[in-house]
Amino acid sequence: MMDTSFDLAVIGAGIVGASTAWYAQKQHPNWKIALFDRSLAGSGATLYSASLDIPFGGTAFKREIACNSRRLYAQMREEVPSLPVADHPFYGFIQKASGDLLLQQCADNDAKMIPGLPCSVAGKYPWLKMPADSAVLSGVTVSRAIRNEMAGLLSGLFASEGLSHLLEGTEIQAVRCTGGLFALETSHGVIYSAERVVQATGPWTRTEGTDNLLMHYHVRVKKIVALHIYHPPAKEDPVFYFFDDEAFLMPRPELGYWLFSFRSDEWDVHPCPSALTIGEGDMAKAIGILEKYSPDLAPCLRGGRVFCDAYTANGDPLIMQAPGYPNYVICGAGSGSGYRLAPGMAAQALSIFR
Ligand SMILES: Cc1cc2nc3c(=O)[nH]c(=O)nc-3n(C[C@H](O)[C@H](O)[C@H](O)COP(=O)(O)OP(=O)(O)OC[C@H]3O[C@@H](n4cnc5c(N)ncnc54)[C@H](O)[C@@H]3O)c2cc1C
Repeated sequence: MMDTSFDLAVIGAGIVGASTAWYAQKQHPNWKIALFDRSLAGSGATLYSASLDIPFGGTAFKREIACNSRRLYAQMREEVPSLPVADHPFYGFIQKASGDLLLQQCADNDAKMIPGLPCSVAGKYPWLKMPADSAVLSGVTVSRAIRNEMAGLLSGLFASEGLSHLLEGTEIQAVRCTGGLFALETSHGVIYSAERVVQATGPWTRTEGTDNLLMHYHVRVKKIVALHIYHPPAKEDPVFYFFDDEAFLMPRPELGYWLFSFRSDEWDVHPCPSALTIGEGDMAKAIGILEKYSPDLAPCLRGGRVFCDAYTANGDPLIMQAPGYPNYVICGAGSGSGYRLAPGMAAQALSIFR
């Protein structure tokens, strides 16, 4: 019989929860840890992610988490060589006037501003247009997940250890605290107990009940869209980032398209896949940005992916103790960067328990 009491319960097996469970197991091999997901591990925002890992942060906190995450992802890749991750060169376009600020926000010491794309690069991508008065950030290597299964993989590796359990299809409906112990009530009527809890429920932020710790924290949920451009990329192609428009082109050679991510401003949506679609407004916005940087690619736009993420006001991830409950930590609101920040967020959340 599986035990129902744990040293740590992690609610949500997206990339943030899966990373948290993974690191907790490494740091505390004697802890009994449960990782719960209302659906399958990795089937939330993480499933839709472009999974691009770039070394930037607009605030000192985000830069610190980004830096730490890169280090931790590198370690993870050494430990699990089969992780489906690919590296790419990177070129970021930005207005010259903002170049210095961008360099300050970059967490990679090799980053440098250059006046334009190197000739060898410009010649290879004749469909790329550099806007007037722009400069290029280069010298940075970025990475991406090749398949959208990182959270599922990490959860599986975590669950293969003796004291750890992955409980999929198990929604936690309420968490209450009595005598310092948390009771996690599931949709099936089973109640689990845990000494510590990390809530990593991504964009699922709303629950009812005043004594329910699984709480409605102060974030907003925004739609995220990325479209697919069927213009075949090569394995070694770079990621092109358009900082002034918060957009990027990322090669996915294994699937035969470039992924084109851009900013959506549709707020307060619900994390329900069937309710979130790519509309005419999204296509029009994408084409408008492509007109600026690569108009020849616009006719190759075909479908894409859409979901949502939780955002804080300043874009920093949210890693905090629930007021009055030091052993209940909320870790989420990736603010559109939760894939790249996940290991750093997990490490920071776990450090609260020490
Ligand atoms: C189209 C798109 C492109 C993106 N591109 C990038 C990118 O290039 N780089 C980047 O860094 N980020 C990107 N993001 C953002 C990134 O994907 C998210 O920030 C990240 O996946 C959030 O991970 P998470 O673990 O917090 O949430 P999720 O992956 O949503 O995981 C939360 C999990 O909690 C579970 N859950 C919720 N409530 C409960 C409950 N009560 N009980 C049990 N389980 C529960 C859900 O089923 C879900 O599996 C993108 C997002 C989208 C949608």
